[in-house]
Amino acid sequence: MPDIRPTAGSGALVLNATYEPLCVVSVRRAAILVLSAKAVCVADGEGILHSARNALPVPSVVRLTRYVRVPYRAHVGLSRRAIFARDGWRCAYCRGPAETIDHVFPRSRGGRHAWENVVAACARCNHTKGDKTPAELGWRLHHLPAAPKGNAWRVLGHRAPDPRWADWLDLREPEVEAA
Ligand SMILES: [Zn+2]
Repeated sequence: MPDIRPTAGSGALVLNATYEPLCVVSVRRAAILVLSAKAVCVADGEGILHSARNALPVPSVVRLTRYVRVPYRAHVGLSRRAIFARDGWRCAYCRGPAETIDHVFPRSRGGRHAWENVVAACARCNHTKGDKTPAELGWRLHHLPAAPKGNAWRVLGHRAPDPRWADWLDLREPEVEAA
């Protein structure tokens, strides 16, 4: 078993044999894939892993040696962290730092808990909005909420990407704005 101290907590990106990004696993799991010849390392991270018989660079990106068929997951799970990540941790109404989740069409009036009806919001806007709709207040949404799309979201979710993965993930796809 590799002894993995250098980058505990970080992960490795797993690519299919076709270079399609699949998922993120622990560095330990990626190292086991490489040591068992189920994957080859295509990009190194930082540090060296030592096991009883081997030493290998910490894998940052590995590619499976055999193609695996994966069921396509079309929807990104709706979670608080994923909503904040999608909206760039900014309030959908005033663009200030967001700390709450707002249902655009209020839940109390039948609004759904779905990507299209949730936005990140600051506490002040959320409180002021109460159970009104933006239209009733004369407010405008900065952008229309939608489910995030793209490979990067499918693979990463709310996880921050390692810059070494950029070549394999189209990181321009998530509509998260820079400040
Ligand atoms: Zn606000």
